[in-house]
Amino acid sequence: MLRKYALFATLFLGSFCQSALAAPPYFTLHDLGHGVWAAVAVPRSGAGSNAGFVVGPDGVLVIDTFEDPAAATALLAAIRKITPEPVRYVIDTHYHLDHVAGNNVFAQAGAVIMAQHNVRTWERTENLKFFGGNATPQQKQMVASLGLPTVTYRDGITIHLGDRPIYVRVLPGHTGGDSAVVIPDAGVVFTGDLFWNHTLPNLIDANTRDQIASNDTFLRDYPDATFVPGHGDIGKAADVRAFRDYLAGLRAAVAQARASGKSGDALVDAVLPELKKRYGGWDWFGYFARHNIEQTAAELAGTKRVPVPGVP
Ligand SMILES: [Zn+2]
Repeated sequence: MLRKYALFATLFLGSFCQSALAAPPYFTLHDLGHGVWAAVAVPRSGAGSNAGFVVGPDGVLVIDTFEDPAAATALLAAIRKITPEPVRYVIDTHYHLDHVAGNNVFAQAGAVIMAQHNVRTWERTENLKFFGGNATPQQKQMVASLGLPTVTYRDGITIHLGDRPIYVRVLPGHTGGDSAVVIPDAGVVFTGDLFWNHTLPNLIDANTRDQIASNDTFLRDYPDATFVPGHGDIGKAADVRAFRDYLAGLRAAVAQARASGKSGDALVDAVLPELKKRYGGWDWFGYFARHNIEQTAAELAGTKRVPVPGVP
């Protein structure tokens, strides 16, 4: 288990080290219209995940704060070039380190950090697992000092940026504490890590049945939207459907292998070739494919360890 977690730590934290060496930019900014901007992470820049923001008539709402506070500082500077309005709110789409490590940057700028309640419960505890159970004192201190949400909700919340409603929907699947941010007048949905665009997902905390259902919700409720994923490029419904179908195909293949009596490496060996044939070109395939199979097998066996929800 340690080795597995150490691999995840490499993904999430390797860029911390690289950020000291690599020069910005951390992200590319995309104007999605109506004051909505997506900040798409530059690979291996230290940003670690996508983020974005909405400029309303009297304030700004930010979605996610990257893996490296320096990337969050760069995002705040980019916002300052676009509008003098105050950054009033941050929505953390979930607790994972690569989406919340810049919270303090925005809190110090005056923003209220908001998230589903479990994000506050898990942010300073569950993130330690990405260090493989042997975090250094410095890493423990970093996790212990992550900025927590100070406003939490159970089922969702609507934020009014002036006369613009922003719908924050809680949907299941990636961690058990996931929010999607819907900007209806712009036709944009920030999905957090419920949707990864042509990128294999990290399923360490996932319930794939629920995650498939949440992507079906995106397709049903927002068929014409522009989707900003947690990882990968900005997408449309066809991209969401491709990801949904990846998860469904993964579950079906793992279920079939289990039904034929396979487990462990034999199960992985039975599923991996077909998965590679179809999805070998997606980002992070080499890194996540085996984990995706193993974790889905554990999910279907009822043995997967997932975070325990907090009491709101
Ligand atoms: Zn995540």
